[in-house]
Amino acid sequence: MSDFHYDVDSDGVAVITWDAPDKSMNTLTREAMELVDGFLDKALADEAVKGIVITSGKKDFAGGMDLNVLARIREESGDQPAQALFDFTMNGHRVLRKLERAGLDPKTNKGGKPVACAIPGTSAGIGTEIALACHRRFMADAPKARIGLPEIMVGLFPGAGGTTRYSRMVGAMAASPVLLEGKMMDPKAARSASLVDEVVAPDELMAKAKEWVLSAKDADIVKPWDQKGWKMPGGAPYHPQGFMTFVGASAMVNGKTQGVYPAAKALLSAVYEGALVPFDTALRIEARYFVGVLMNPSSSAMIRSLFLNKTALEKGANRPEAPDQTVRKVGVLGAGMMGAGIAYVSANAGIDVVLIDQKQEAADTGKAHAEGILDKGIKRKKVTEEKKAEVLGRINATTEYEALSDCDLIVEAVFEDTGVKAEVTKAALAKAPSDVIFATNTSTLPITELAKAADTPDQFIGIHFFSPVDKMNLVEIIKGRQTGDRAVAKALDFVRQIRKTPIVVNDARFFYANRCIIPYINEGVRMVKEGVTPALIENAAKQVGMPLGPLQLVDETSIELGVKIAKATRAAMGDAYPDEAVDEVLFWMADEGRLGRKSNAGFYAYDEAGKRVELWPGLAERYAPLDDQPAVTDVQHRLLFAQVLEAVRALEDGVLEDIREGDVGAILGWGFAPWSGGPFGWLDILGAQRAVDLCDGLAAAHGPRFTAPDLLREMARKGETFYGRFGTGQDAAAA
Ligand code: NAD
Repeated sequence: MSDFHYDVDSDGVAVITWDAPDKSMNTLTREAMELVDGFLDKALADEAVKGIVITSGKKDFAGGMDLNVLARIREESGDQPAQALFDFTMNGHRVLRKLERAGLDPKTNKGGKPVACAIPGTSAGIGTEIALACHRRFMADAPKARIGLPEIMVGLFPGAGGTTRYSRMVGAMAASPVLLEGKMMDPKAARSASLVDEVVAPDELMAKAKEWVLSAKDADIVKPWDQKGWKMPGGAPYHPQGFMTFVGASAMVNGKTQGVYPAAKALLSAVYEGALVPFDTALRIEARYFVGVLMNPSSSAMIRSLFLNKTALEKGANRPEAPDQTVRKVGVLGAGMMGAGIAYVSANAGIDVVLIDQKQEAADTGKAHAEGILDKGIKRKKVTEEKKAEVLGRINATTEYEALSDCDLIVEAVFEDTGVKAEVTKAALAKAPSDVIFATNTSTLPITELAKAADTPDQFIGIHFFSPVDKMNLVEIIKGRQTGDRAVAKALDFVRQIRKTPIVVNDARFFYANRCIIPYINEGVRMVKEGVTPALIENAAKQVGMPLGPLQLVDETSIELGVKIAKATRAAMGDAYPDEAVDEVLFWMADEGRLGRKSNAGFYAYDEAGKRVELWPGLAERYAPLDDQPAVTDVQHRLLFAQVLEAVRALEDGVLEDIREGDVGAILGWGFAPWSGGPFGWLDILGAQRAVDLCDGLAAAHGPRFTAPDLLREMARKGETFYGRFGTGQDAAAA
């Protein structure tokens, strides 16, 4: 069985069908590219063949490049990985250029065979790049079909000619949202964006594509850039209009990425330089930049975390052996902010929901939250009225615990209070089936303690969602000391059903995500107390790739919550509590009534409409700015090490069992500088020895919280990396 099939129909149309065996989605491998090459030769040489249609034998067209292939090429290339990747990329260009020229005479541009692409469903990455090399693209108007070039999302850019072709088709400006934001579009939006030419009914797809192939003339198949006098739409860089475009785009890219994402910069350079030279040279330039990005440790780390490891976790890499635990009916206790969100995502995934609160009114408000999200979707034409009715029809909002009698999973999301949670747990378990799995969404209370309210602690587990539930993709699953395998499998199967990404960690204070994010906030607040200018703190954080500075983050999550957590932590830790300096600032802010965004006043000032206006000037009056401000990198190192050392300690303590979860969880959970691939990815880029040296300097200057963990010192001594020591073979290869 091979990835592509070749048939010639009675009208003389050669159909090349992509249908990778044993895969639900076509992804391109090295061998498959060779196959396409051979079929093209065959079709072009066969006089009986009048034209070619490339299509897929599956519901969708293609998911992109098999990124494991790139890792393997590097692995096998010895000490010349860049050359091997360049040769591989140029070979791809050769094949797609052959497809695009389709036998046209180089001088007369005559005598070629038309090639259409018939796209039955979703197409991403190299699938779309193959389509762009064809002469005409037909896409089926299938409800869930999306097409785009999302490479930028994993730290790459379209490197199979897509960057050069698409920017030459529509101009640099119009190409920006597709190339730089990696947007996936529905068929109609794709037609507006010129990614496809025609959107047709699914059952007419092949007929329309063949019809076009049989009627196309030479003039229809010569790409604009292969015609005399071609000019880049919107102007090449030295054209006055093009000049404006490139200056603007460059500013926009740097503004958005803060310069930390090599792929965005390289993409722009490839478009800029490519626009100045003939097409084939432009492809060579694209290939150079593409390989430069592939060789950049940031890109490898992003591919590893955001593609390979994320996918592995979603497919159940850490699922214990247990029969299928697909959830049929979930009970959600507490219809507040979190409970309502959990009810919505469950119902949206086709799971029946019982949503319980103390009063019917509260339960109804929770259900109304789901309605609100669905209404927004309808406004944006993403949801239909039927879908809304269907989803809402699955949510039974009630005060009656009897309704839990046929639930196979219960998720508790009532107030963060051990007593209230215990009471609710007992009341629910009294009515639920004896084999129900019971999960708590607590963010701070130990799971093992809460499990005491259940007679069957092996069926008790933590499923920690992040807010807002419908937007945040990470779910942290926490095993209490007695949690059994079936409970873990149930939680993982549930997370798979609602299409989120799970990590599984062991029970300890603040689990994993909050454990790392709290020191980040605290370090920022501590710097305010020291007299570091708040703008320096915030900008240093953003320039190192954090989505929110620590002060903005605490405003968003609420300073009141910060005070509450600080008090509870101090009570638990006693004399060992290290954050007095932080508390002084936070408690003072709370006393001043500056509780964060919810009170329209915090580290930032807000206008009446709740818009963030500026850093609150009152801070400088109380905490006079130092005459000598620290260097930006010092501030960045403090902010990053505050987080990553906690991640290393979580690994040392056994809270984290798998560094892949540590990295994926950090990026998806709190936006840890995605360019780094996560805390462990970043430490591997730095190298253990350099990390230890930096820690020693920080500890001497700022205190023992920066002391390098023993594990890191040991790794520095042995010259080890995290992915070398704790990763799977595949991780190490991608690094
Ligand atoms: P919330 O105050 O918005 O909602 C709690 C809901 O529980 C309220 O509707 C309340 O009426 C209901 N409730 C209280 N006692 C009840 C009882 N005895 N029976 C039935 N319902 C009862 O709180 P929230 O922000 O949704 O948080 C809920 C849980 O989720 C907490 O454990 C919290 O720590 C956790 N959590 C919160 C966040 C967050 O960002 N807010 C994130 C992760 C986890």
